[in-house]
Amino acid sequence: MGKIKTDKIIENAIARDPHQPEFHQALREVLQWIVPYAAKHDKCNNPSLFQKLTEPERIIQFRVPWTDDDGKEHINRGFRVQFSSVIGPYKGGLRFHPSVNLSILKFLAFEQVFKNSLTGLPMGGGKGGADFNPKGRSRAEIMRFCQSFMNELYRHIGPDTDIPAGDIGVGSREIGFLFGQYRRLTGTFNGVLTGKGGAFGGSELRPEATGFGLLYFVKEMMDTLDSDIEGAQVLISGSGNVAQFACKKAIEMGAKVLTMSDSDGFIYKKGGLNEEDLQFIMDLKNEQRGRIKACTDTFDCSWFEGKPWQHGVEAQIALPCATQNELDEDDAKALINNGLTAVAEGANMPCTDGAVRLFHKNGIAFAPGKASNAGGVSVSGLEMSQNSLRLSWDAERVDKELHDIMHTIHEKCRENGTEDGRINYEKGAAIAGFQKVADALIAQGHV
Ligand code: GLU
Repeated sequence: MGKIKTDKIIENAIARDPHQPEFHQALREVLQWIVPYAAKHDKCNNPSLFQKLTEPERIIQFRVPWTDDDGKEHINRGFRVQFSSVIGPYKGGLRFHPSVNLSILKFLAFEQVFKNSLTGLPMGGGKGGADFNPKGRSRAEIMRFCQSFMNELYRHIGPDTDIPAGDIGVGSREIGFLFGQYRRLTGTFNGVLTGKGGAFGGSELRPEATGFGLLYFVKEMMDTLDSDIEGAQVLISGSGNVAQFACKKAIEMGAKVLTMSDSDGFIYKKGGLNEEDLQFIMDLKNEQRGRIKACTDTFDCSWFEGKPWQHGVEAQIALPCATQNELDEDDAKALINNGLTAVAEGANMPCTDGAVRLFHKNGIAFAPGKASNAGGVSVSGLEMSQNSLRLSWDAERVDKELHDIMHTIHEKCRENGTEDGRINYEKGAAIAGFQKVADALIAQGHV
């Protein structure tokens, strides 16, 4: 059998779709670990398997017309990338952001395949969204956009085929609008979307799940390093759903959260944010849709314009929870010079290739999003289970399941990624995620 080479696969991917840098980056990040693994395991050392692993099963692209409050018509582009359904129905979020394009959605869907495999739940990988900018739009405009988006999407999804959820720009409000339109169009009430409101089939703790799961994972990392989360200084970027609940759990665990940010800049509070500060940020972001700078009028903190990473403050833990490629090599250098011991990605691929290389080189424990932010999709999986059973579990039960899943993911990283007594989480997560998908592709006769 021919030798599989990471560079060759990436070269082919670039030749085929030259304008998809984020997708190529995500491919490289995973293939660098699984290609050498496959070379040592005959059954998956098969070029056809790698072709199937790196090409989406299906991509749907559609027009989304909608009318603003002044009666002006707009056209956006909607997408759903159905990457792999080999271990379960397509599962993954919808992102509404002006940057959305096929490169970003293919990278996110590819990541989702491995993440979902790692959760141990039967979910394939997908991602979708639109290049729609919700910033500054009224509730009525958002609702009309969601309804129009669903007018096309509904024919491609279903509780046993493809189950979207939220991502950047799509929270519980948007999921409610999308669900309402799906129900109207199909006349069915089922678990076609996750992240629903509690009154209509949503799971306890789904809003909290990504942020809480991230901190459960960080706790495991710190235990492995013989370090404490209690008293640790933590930098968080972002101030959306993931960042908010990461901050909440970090405070609960006794850590000092020094920063949170949005695309304008970041706030820094020397002694660490308290629960009241966080409540203010949640109201500001979720209800008023305001800018984080407004915190300076309410509690004692400083404001810095620009990226949240390079301010020379000592911190042991960095949790990038904003967006892809937000933390680069220069940021990594600044963090390493200021006492960093662990990084766990709350967002998807927030650290650039160069930053990750520096973390590895300097012995910093680095958890990739597909492991550390898997709590969100895990509770989505639990929401699907509850919907299928037509019952709902209490928060205590869901929290226990989430804990167990994050612990198991950490164990899988340890088993597959331990090198010279340290855990290489990137390698462990890629290999463990790959094993199940590869086994299923082989068993189902795809290769
Ligand atoms: N968008 C989230 C993620 O990146 C959640 C997806 C879901 O719940 O399906 O994993």
